[in-house]
Amino acid sequence: MKALAKSRKKNLKKFGLRFDEKTAFEVFSAVGEWWREKRGFYAKLVPPHLFYLPEELKDDAKRRCEWLFFMAIPMRGGINSDDAFRFMRELFSCYPEMFDPCLVQNKTAEELAEAVRDTASRVHNGGSKGAKKAGTMSFKLEEHMGAWIENAKRLVKFWRGDIRNVFKDVKDFEEAFARADYERSEAGFLGMRRKIFSLLTLWLQDFRDIHQFPMPLIVDFHTIRMLLQHRIALASYSRLGPNDTENPLRFRPESLWEYPAVRLKDKFVDTIIMWSQDFLKRKKLVPYDVAHGLWYLSRTLCASYQGNRSKDKRLEGRRTITEFLVDAEELARGIGWPKNYRDPCRFCPVERTCKVAIPSGPYFDWGVMAKAGRHVRYPFRQKRFEGVSWRTMPGSFRSSKHRHVVWTNVNGNGHERKEEISFQYDLGLSGGT
Ligand code: SF4
Repeated sequence: MKALAKSRKKNLKKFGLRFDEKTAFEVFSAVGEWWREKRGFYAKLVPPHLFYLPEELKDDAKRRCEWLFFMAIPMRGGINSDDAFRFMRELFSCYPEMFDPCLVQNKTAEELAEAVRDTASRVHNGGSKGAKKAGTMSFKLEEHMGAWIENAKRLVKFWRGDIRNVFKDVKDFEEAFARADYERSEAGFLGMRRKIFSLLTLWLQDFRDIHQFPMPLIVDFHTIRMLLQHRIALASYSRLGPNDTENPLRFRPESLWEYPAVRLKDKFVDTIIMWSQDFLKRKKLVPYDVAHGLWYLSRTLCASYQGNRSKDKRLEGRRTITEFLVDAEELARGIGWPKNYRDPCRFCPVERTCKVAIPSGPYFDWGVMAKAGRHVRYPFRQKRFEGVSWRTMPGSFRSSKHRHVVWTNVNGNGHERKEEISFQYDLGLSGGT
């Protein structure tokens, strides 16, 4: 135990990472509770693994686990989870054999790639535009298909074709990950790093397909943005500076060089994951609720906050790269707020502790979290009636960012959406250790 604590301290020191646990408790408790109780803007949100689950898998645990297993691997940084889920649902409906490890292990990478291209042509209106014609899966398609087959083989060979066997009798997430980590075990899975494996574990726990045990947060861009904005993760920032690339379209503009930034390396992410498992357990917080509370807050509200916006360079009408960030000092002087600004922060349950703006552009372009400046409260915020706060209004903020939302006043396909949410409640989700 002592050795573990010592190595954790060493890790934190090495990456210049410390944690403000007092603020962490305040923020995690609030967002976890609001998510669980579906308060304020959380009221109509449904997690994508529930929203996009194919109908026939609702009552078939084994096949559901297979779908989730292959679903998890493409969830790398930068991918839009809605697009990935929508794509995989369509792929499953046309090529269900791709999700059966016993069948897929005998296929070739080209056969899988053909199925992916065919699916992309239907999912994307007018066909997939990229050179590989594989839509969401275009990035490293061949490599990805090879890993898909290899992982199917390993699942059959070492785990009797059932991902649930990886979790048999584990005491916590780290023990399970040691079995699935290809760097430490020949029975591990390609592409399955801590972040992706924690996502898969969360889904499986949510469906009650595996038992509950201590879990970390799902540490992706959104979670890290929340930890930095609230100064929960006290990272060492350094000057962003120029980047090293031969592609002139990817040159980092000089206008960004002086911003303080943190580079997101695997060790940085792993350190947060390990700290969060320990912290959530010590403070008796429910990882499922906290993870969803943080993720949706960043993705829905923070994404629309003016200080987190950026101006992009464009070439022939298409976005190429981030060029300018919003100047916080101008915002503080009342300059630069758009007309009809929707002021998302008025719906935020933790506005009090939000101190810093972290836009998404530099992360998606170069994998760095750049600090744009201090957080500025909208100076022209409208007043509410006495005794009623903006943030308690149910379903108060609508975002175009995600489609897994249940709007009870929609018609047409609204029926399907209502069913999805009742399914969520039937399962009695949101529990956890
Ligand atoms: S105050 Fe605004 S930017 Fe800060 S966490 Fe809340 S919603 Fe996000």
